[in-house]
Amino acid sequence: MTTVHMYTGSEAGLSVNAYLVETPHGVVAVDATLTQSDSRALRARADHLGKPLLAVLLTHGHPDHVAGVTNLVAGLDVPVVALASVRDLMARTEAAKHAQWAGMFGAEWIPAWTYPTQLVHDQEVLEFDGVTFRVHDLGAGGDCDANAIWVLESEQPPVAFVGDLLFNGYHTYMADGAVLRWRANLTQFRPLLAGMARLYVGHGPAGDARLVDQQLAYFDHYCAALLEITRGGGQLDEAATAELTARLTRAYPDYGLQFMVGLSAPRVAVELAAVAP
Ligand SMILES: [Zn+2]
Repeated sequence: MTTVHMYTGSEAGLSVNAYLVETPHGVVAVDATLTQSDSRALRARADHLGKPLLAVLLTHGHPDHVAGVTNLVAGLDVPVVALASVRDLMARTEAAKHAQWAGMFGAEWIPAWTYPTQLVHDQEVLEFDGVTFRVHDLGAGGDCDANAIWVLESEQPPVAFVGDLLFNGYHTYMADGAVLRWRANLTQFRPLLAGMARLYVGHGPAGDARLVDQQLAYFDHYCAALLEITRGGGQLDEAATAELTARLTRAYPDYGLQFMVGLSAPRVAVELAAVAP
């Protein structure tokens, strides 16, 4: 009844995935990529399907998932759907994200975000063209402080769009902290994820519930290496960050987004150190 088209952004656009769920008479997008080029290409891909865009569903509020909404819905009257917490996180962080990243991305940076127009709550079911999606509110404890899973329930067995709850084949962004709660969410939602035919992730190829164990093992490996290198002190200098990156690169030689290892390290080091009495 539906076909899921995966669009993977450029490496410069963090190789982020967005999805176009093709229904009999329309298209529902999940997330919207980061850069000008990627989001315009995503829009072109949607237009090429020759069916109206019915909605854009957001998994979470990070720029690589929401910035491209502006181009994806340009000139269209299409609902942009998210949890209130996702909308609020966008509003709280947009200015800081522009300040942090606009210079680095230059002309590829999208200077103004387009906000959700329709808010949903945990377990709410939406129907588009006879196709139903249920949203699950994870709260904090994914790669940011407000995270949703969208389950395409009219597929049997269903499939899920999990955003950045799971990374597959890429180093994980942990610079927003809450790794402990992220681990708990993986365990909490494992039964839900285990019932899915496919898990469509924010970065990397789709997989199944084995990705949960892969993600937990990554956290263990990363945190153990970080504790050992910092002796649990929460302090990182340049040499420690380089050592951590070297270790993670040896352990995961094929993983992309290698810079995430160092980017996440100060925050994770503080989180781990704060556990000590
Ligand atoms: Zn992402």
